[in-house]
Amino acid sequence: LIRLRTRLSRSQNVFGKGLLSLLSRDRLDEDVWEEIEDSLITADVGIDATREIVDRLRERTRVLGTRTATELRALLAAELVNALDPTLDRSLRTAPREGAPAVLLVVGVNGAGKTTTCGKVARVLIADGRSVVLGAADTFRAAAADQLATWASRVGAEVVRGPEAADPASVAFDAVRRGIDLGVDTVLIDTAGRLQNKIGLMDELGKVKRVVEKHGPVDETLLVLDATTGQNGLEQARVFTEVVDVTGVVLTKLDGTAKGGIVIAVQRKLGIPVKLVGLGEGPDDLAPFEPTQFVDALLG
Ligand code: GDP
Repeated sequence: LIRLRTRLSRSQNVFGKGLLSLLSRDRLDEDVWEEIEDSLITADVGIDATREIVDRLRERTRVLGTRTATELRALLAAELVNALDPTLDRSLRTAPREGAPAVLLVVGVNGAGKTTTCGKVARVLIADGRSVVLGAADTFRAAAADQLATWASRVGAEVVRGPEAADPASVAFDAVRRGIDLGVDTVLIDTAGRLQNKIGLMDELGKVKRVVEKHGPVDETLLVLDATTGQNGLEQARVFTEVVDVTGVVLTKLDGTAKGGIVIAVQRKLGIPVKLVGLGEGPDDLAPFEPTQFVDALLG
């Protein structure tokens, strides 16, 4: 939790500033609402969600007769948590079923943090006593397989890679085969995020999925999104949700942005639960996403 707070310090600046200035007021006047609205928009919560949150907040403070900044902070926190739908199931399906490893596909545009996320997730699982195979199906970017192999040796996972420019689907197939042969708990497959066009992406990811499913069902398809790309990144993300059945979002690089509110926009626009957040480049810089804790850290 302490780490969450320090890593979200940039976003805190945006939210915290607005809240701090409230402390010096004795009335909740029009400026207060404008300031809250500005901080939410600056933090990339998105215009529609911001309006809704502020409207609900105004209504609640009116009904409750809220006067102090502390009370207002609590109400704002509650509205932000509410906007994140705290009832969603955010658990990651990584446990093997019927003797076969759980299979997770990791998708997203290049540079979003897929390879890094595969490494970090493997690290968490291995620390928890599980065994992991990493499949380097990002055969498009030459260095991607090397990078994944580095992560594998760092965290103690087995890596499966193909020859240069190999068919991603065949590498993915081999990785799951290897996972079954070794009897591991989880297979994580890193894919390429070439967004040349929707058809190309659909063909490639569709094929990876179909081929993997010859071994059994895919348990989880994680979409990795770079938080620093803000609202633009959301448009690209939508394309992925249209071509594969995404079951969870990993929002990376929250440490490098003041736009932590993007998590609300992601939830709202994609309708898919954010399950994990990336808070840095290191092996331990991954956290499960928990709305109450996150909002608390965000508000400083
Ligand atoms: P990929 O192309 O989607 O596989 O992306 P990579 O995993 O290679 O990551 C791209 C860059 O982002 C690398 O330099 C990573 O170290 C960095 N990165 C990934 N996740 C995070 C994060 O949560 N925070 C920060 N600050 N950097 C990250």
